[in-house]
Amino acid sequence: SVFYRQLPKVELHAHLNGSVSFQTIEKLSKQKPHLNIERSMTAIGKGQRRTLDECFQVFKIIHQLVDAEEDILMVAKDVITEFAADGVKYLELRSTPREEKTTGLTKKRYIETVLNAIQQCKNEELDIDVRFLVAIDRRNGAEVAMETVKLAEEFMLSSDGLVVGLDLSGDPTVGHGRDLLPALRRAKNSGLKLSLHLSEVPSQLEETDLLLELPPDRIGHGTFLLPEVGGSKSLVDKVVKNHIPLELCLTSNVKGQTVPAYSNHHFKYWYQLGHPCVICTDDKGVFCTDLSQEYQLAASTFGLSREAVWTLSQQAIDCIFAQDGVKQQLRHKWAGMKSQVL
Ligand code: 5GP
Repeated sequence: SVFYRQLPKVELHAHLNGSVSFQTIEKLSKQKPHLNIERSMTAIGKGQRRTLDECFQVFKIIHQLVDAEEDILMVAKDVITEFAADGVKYLELRSTPREEKTTGLTKKRYIETVLNAIQQCKNEELDIDVRFLVAIDRRNGAEVAMETVKLAEEFMLSSDGLVVGLDLSGDPTVGHGRDLLPALRRAKNSGLKLSLHLSEVPSQLEETDLLLELPPDRIGHGTFLLPEVGGSKSLVDKVVKNHIPLELCLTSNVKGQTVPAYSNHHFKYWYQLGHPCVICTDDKGVFCTDLSQEYQLAASTFGLSREAVWTLSQQAIDCIFAQDGVKQQLRHKWAGMKSQVL
């Protein structure tokens, strides 16, 4: 509804290549007809479910479509423009830098291109502040993780505040966080903020326990932290004690079948506890959603009033990785919009 669209919002968990809209996929497919990409291959529609493994196959197909510098520029600009149109005022995009031999793309150029897209949107005066998290795909192991951290450090120093942190994502059933600890520690020590996908699947107890020692600055999903789904009280206590905000993506978890139904989502537990949690989209293109819809789903599923929804979106400001000055600006923006939106 209009309220959710007008609601000023903060998006903190958006993977670039999972956020590509149908319209942009169409443009890319026309440019690369030999790939024979159909809609059902890149998006999971209403009522559809996939296994997490099938979701990761979808990213492989999108990566085939987005393999050159000009693709990344278009995708990033389109995604930012779409978030802005949905009422997102502050966005932290994340993406895994890729190198593509066939198009001459390098990881460094990949990051530069995303930053270029952010700058171009700024020049067009879109009403959205965008930052970037460099992503580590856990599948690629310790060496690549360390390389990625070094690249992120360089950009943190040269990007005028656009690169604010590091993401750890990728197939949670592959690899072990233990091997990535040195890279993650180094990133943290050099001032990069850490957002880590933790406990997305039930088998990650030991890894989560280890990675929580860093501690991360935010947690992605944390689906299996709670004792009733196989987690433990000690994990929950660590998250609470360190006040680590959670990025929660309802539709993603339901469509990816790590959560059986919206009403079972762990948002309920953390929200009732008063623990900082931020509603996010994860992959708005793949899961056919947007942030307005995610807020609306949270509200209708858990019976939140408009006042409560407003507070939820406002409190997300506290969890952003950009500096305090940016937080102040956003709080000011929210205050200015409140009477007209609520
Ligand atoms: P990209 O990093 O290429 O911009 O976005 C796609 C990538 O994000 C995927 O290949 C995967 O590494 C990561 N990703 C997207 N959604 C999820 C998710 O729900 N869970 C995890 N663990 N990784 C994801």
